[in-house]
Amino acid sequence: MLYPLFADLNDRHVLVVGGGDVAARKTAMLLKAGARITVGAPVLAPELREWVQQGRIAYKPGAYRSDWLDGTWLVIAATRSRPLNARIAADGQARQRLVNVVDDAALSSFQVPALIDRSPLLVAISSGGAAPMLARRLRERIESLLDPAWGSLLQLAQRYRARIRTRHADLAARRRFYDWLHDGPVHAHLRAARPAHAEHRLVTALSDAATPAASGSVALVGAGPGDPGLLTLRALRALNEADVILHDALISEPILDLARRDAVRIAVGKRAGGMHTPQDSIHALMLEHTQAGKRVVRLKGGDPFVFGRGGEELDFLREHGIAYEIVPGITAAIACAAYSGVPLTHRGHAQSVRLVTAHGQSSSNTLDWRELAHERQTLAIYMGVGQLEELAAQLIAHGRAASTPFALVENGTLPQQRTLTGTLGDLPRLATQHAMEAPALLILGEVAAQAEHSHWFGELLSELPSQTAAPVAVLADAA
Ligand code: SAH
Repeated sequence: MLYPLFADLNDRHVLVVGGGDVAARKTAMLLKAGARITVGAPVLAPELREWVQQGRIAYKPGAYRSDWLDGTWLVIAATRSRPLNARIAADGQARQRLVNVVDDAALSSFQVPALIDRSPLLVAISSGGAAPMLARRLRERIESLLDPAWGSLLQLAQRYRARIRTRHADLAARRRFYDWLHDGPVHAHLRAARPAHAEHRLVTALSDAATPAASGSVALVGAGPGDPGLLTLRALRALNEADVILHDALISEPILDLARRDAVRIAVGKRAGGMHTPQDSIHALMLEHTQAGKRVVRLKGGDPFVFGRGGEELDFLREHGIAYEIVPGITAAIACAAYSGVPLTHRGHAQSVRLVTAHGQSSSNTLDWRELAHERQTLAIYMGVGQLEELAAQLIAHGRAASTPFALVENGTLPQQRTLTGTLGDLPRLATQHAMEAPALLILGEVAAQAEHSHWFGELLSELPSQTAAPVAVLADAA
């Protein structure tokens, strides 16, 4: 087994042999650690040359010599020649220097781990040279789980360490305080880019008589249109930390699978066309769980603030003084456009795009059809497929040409995505012909014609051939 260690190289001499990009990368890391670096090589990459000119590193020009090792604590061999690297390793061995030969575990007497840097917090991963690829994969995973605010949180904790110790002399109390510090409002303020609020909250807590209790919070999180690959890192972290997840009925299973295993999941909100949880009981659930000190994720399809009633939930949270954060998601319009190859704006074809909802009985009365019928704008219409007939009729009646192209995207970004294209005049007939179902998003405008040739995900549908069409003849020819 390798002995793990974190070396304090501040002001200590380190030798890097090699002048290429790899040497430059290693040197950059060593600079962060405050090491006194000498780079030895016949020629230097531009970055290294710059550091030499700035006096940040020393330079030994020319071919490697073993006396370069004199007075150094550590050596990094980053030359392209294996025999030379082996020689450096042997010289280091003879002089009892620790030597790392880049990407060569057999020649190295120490290894540099894969690193997740949230200084002062460092997570180092080593596979003992056996599986560097795996270590790298693992690093990416952990990287995405630890939000960048951990670094500032630990710096803050470091500065107040003595005061925290004095205030909570008892170990159990101190542990509770740190739990609160790591999970509670101080961390939340730092994630929200408010360092002054964070410090103030910490100071207040230290002067309070009681140990602060675990405080609940709500994250309004956009889950995107369905493909788990379209979640943001923030959404993923929120899912990882949640005690309770209140999710829309339509959130896909692969997304929920990313949540912590022991999180409580509660399906709320609308089911397509069927039962739905009244908004009030969603509010009540948020209140109940935050009062119990839980971290709640309110997971909504697409973006929480686009036709998602996120505004009402935000008002409720504010009125009840519940701590919250809001994580945007990729809304259906953006996602369906991308996954059907339709640029929503395009020089010359569309200078603006409108997100419109045609949900609900009364919308046909409240929408400004004349405005919507204008040319050279793209409409992204969130709607039930039952409304297509009315929609097409109104737009044409108010002046939009029946020849305007559309792309109707059903189950956008999911494996079963289907995209139907055609012109506005044929829309209701084509949609019926192909039995298009919810959820579906309609993109209407000149740009939608692009789907015909730039569509790339799922199935592309267009007019079905009529009964008497050619395929029969083609078959006959083949036979
Ligand atoms: N907040 C959500 C929209 C909620 S309204 C967002 O930002 O996307 C629900 C409507 O969104 C559906 O009726 C449908 O028109 C659209 N929609 C949501 N997910 C969709 C998907 N995967 N494919 C196509 N349309 C979708």
